[in-house]
Order: sequence, then structure tokens, then C-alpha cells
Amino acid sequence: MSEPELIPLARPALGEREEELVLEVLRSGRLSLGPTLERFEREFADRLGVPDAVAVSSGTAALHLGVRALGWGEGDEVVTAPFSFVASANCLLYERVKPVFCDIDPVTLNLDPVAARDAIDEQTVGLLPVDILGYPAALPELERIASEGGLTLLQDSCEALGAVDRDGRAVGSRGHLAAFAFYANKQMTTGEGGMLAVSEPELAAALRSERNQGRAPDMDWVEHDRLGFNYRLTDIQAALGIAQLERLDEMLGARERAAALYTAGLAALDQGAQAGEGDPAGLVLPCADRETERRSWFVYAVRLPASADREAVVADLAQRGVQAKAYMPAIHLMPHLRERFGYREGQFPAAEDASARLLALPFFPGIEEAQVERVCEALGEALRGNWT
Ligand SMILES: *Cc1c(COP(=O)(O)O)cnc(C)c1O
Repeated sequence: MSEPELIPLARPALGEREEELVLEVLRSGRLSLGPTLERFEREFADRLGVPDAVAVSSGTAALHLGVRALGWGEGDEVVTAPFSFVASANCLLYERVKPVFCDIDPVTLNLDPVAARDAIDEQTVGLLPVDILGYPAALPELERIASEGGLTLLQDSCEALGAVDRDGRAVGSRGHLAAFAFYANKQMTTGEGGMLAVSEPELAAALRSERNQGRAPDMDWVEHDRLGFNYRLTDIQAALGIAQLERLDEMLGARERAAALYTAGLAALDQGAQAGEGDPAGLVLPCADRETERRSWFVYAVRLPASADREAVVADLAQRGVQAKAYMPAIHLMPHLRERFGYREGQFPAAEDASARLLALPFFPGIEEAQVERVCEALGEALRGNWT
């Protein structure tokens, strides 16, 4: 029997337009801090509907500069979600800020505003909500909590470009700093890259200086008036970003269609199952959009039944040519946070449950209907065979 063709977890949508714009930059000789970078920033800001946007080398770099721009530092605490990609906590550690975790909403998997309010104390200076798996965080409530407590806000929207919040506003456009990321599995990619949405001109100037070794715009290359980093995005990457922005709506639409195929395919699987040991019933699918909120589909992750053996399911799927991934480890239980702050199991049950049960399935704009069907079928079979 021949090996089934592997269906990968993610694959960027790249085409002739990307090649054309990248070639233009290569032929121009302006590879860094050139006009393509400026154009990418301008077009991204316009698309989002914010006054300015500052491009950097990664989503993590965007978060790090955001933390510094808000003046969060040693002795400060910031309330954030334990169920996230580790960068949303690491960016605080870089500046010796203590991440104070609180539990998530078990449905949306985003920071629970009630838990966030309870976690605030005298040391708290800010909130760092994450729009997890592309679902918009509860920003209207969190902003209210922040303003009551005199706190500042940094939004990690790295998984949510294109999402819309409860007030009908594009995620990242509410006026506080918001970070986006362009790694190859995100809604749009520059290979590696990130962006900060900014509404104040002085803040944007400070961010542009810090991404460039602390150099002021009117200074010579070797003069620096503050501590900075090399967090620059190249013009080659910016060219990719411009091409990806042009087709962002098309890619978001394709992701939405793929998600609908999964939702239908997995619901059928669920209904077709016989009750009892080893049936795939009990899968929890990603939550539907509530009221005016709109998810921007980032990955398609299902929660396996509690008694399914997730590791065995991943291995079984791999045998069937389907790449799947446990998604994601709870941050408070990672050694560098556990040891430093004494976090332990059982503190955030909803986050720990999500982290123990979620499985990301192959998901990208170009995925075909037949591939989604194959994944659904394979998942059904893998679940039947791997029960604890
Ligand atoms: C992707 C991502 C980031 C940034 O990742 P980079 O690899 O540094 O671009 C930050 N936070 C979350 C939640 C992410 O998913």
C-alpha cells in the first residue's frame, strides 16, 4: 500500500504577486528601512483603521516593544491569560514584569473578565488580553476594568487579524496598543514579522526608534539616544506583507469556508457515532460567534473527549497522513514560570482543561474539501482506537 499524501497542519498562500513585489525590492537595492517598509506600514494601518502602524521582526518583538512603550517594568504586575502562545507572557518577563494569570472563559477560551478583575491588586499596572485562536477578547469589559483601576492595556492580537469585537470594531483598532504577527501559519505572513497598531504619533516615533537600536529619525546611523533593539522588518518581508494584504479578504474567506467544512464534517461524525466506549461523540468544536463578535479563523482546534488519549490520537493521525498538534501547553505550568512564581496545577481549571484536550487539525486557505473530509474520517477512526 502506498503512503497516503501528508496533509500538513498549515501552509501559506503565496503566489505570483508575492514573487513580483519581492523581486522589485531585490532589484531596487533598498532592503531595509526603505520605502516598501513605509508602504506596508501605511497600508496595514489603513486596512485596520488606525492612525499608524509600526512593523517589527516578529509578533514577540511587537509585544516586547509594546510592554516597554507602556512603561511596565520591574515590580509591576500585569494580568494575562495562561492559555496562550508563550510569547504573551515572555514579553513581560523580558522587562521583569510579573505575569499574573487568571482563568479563561471555558467557551471562548479568552481571558475571563470577572477573573481578571479579581486578580488585580496594588501592584497591577495593566492588562494583556489575547484574542485566542482568532476569537475576539472581551475588550469592552476589559477596557472598563482597566479604566476603573487606572490600568493600561496591551492587546495580543497575533492570532486575530480580521476579527471583530462585540462593539463591531476591528480587533486592534480600539486605540490602545495591539500586536499582530506574520509567522507562516498566521492569517497573513511575511515569513517572520510583526506589527504594532498605534494611535499616538509620539508612541509610534518611540517604537520606530527602539526597533532600530534607539536611533532617532534625524540622527546619523551610529548615534543613539536611548536603549534599542534590532527588531527591524526587512523591505523584502514588507513586500510579502503588501502582497498578502491585497489578498487578505480572499484568504480570510477561504479560512472561513474551510472552518465551515470542518464544522459540518465533524458534526456528522459525532451524530454517526454509536454511544459507548471509543466513539468520537463528545468532541467540542470551536465556539460559534456570539452576537456581533466575529472570529477570524486562525487554526481549527477541537477539544477531544476527556477520556481520549491525545498523544495516541496524534500518532494515529500521523500514520494516516494527517498532521495534527496538541494545542497549547498552559503557560503557568511551564518550568520557567512555575519555578519563578510558584504557579501549580489546578489553579486555572478552564485553561488547564483546554490545554490538555485541544487538538489542532490541518487548516489553511488552500485546503481542499476532500482533504477536510479525509481529516474528519481519520479523526473518527483515530478516536475509536485510542481511548483510555
Ligand atoms: C504567533 C503569536 C505571537 C507572536 O509570535 P511570533 O512567532 O513572535 O511572531 C504572539 N502571541 C500569540 C498568541 C501568537 O499566536
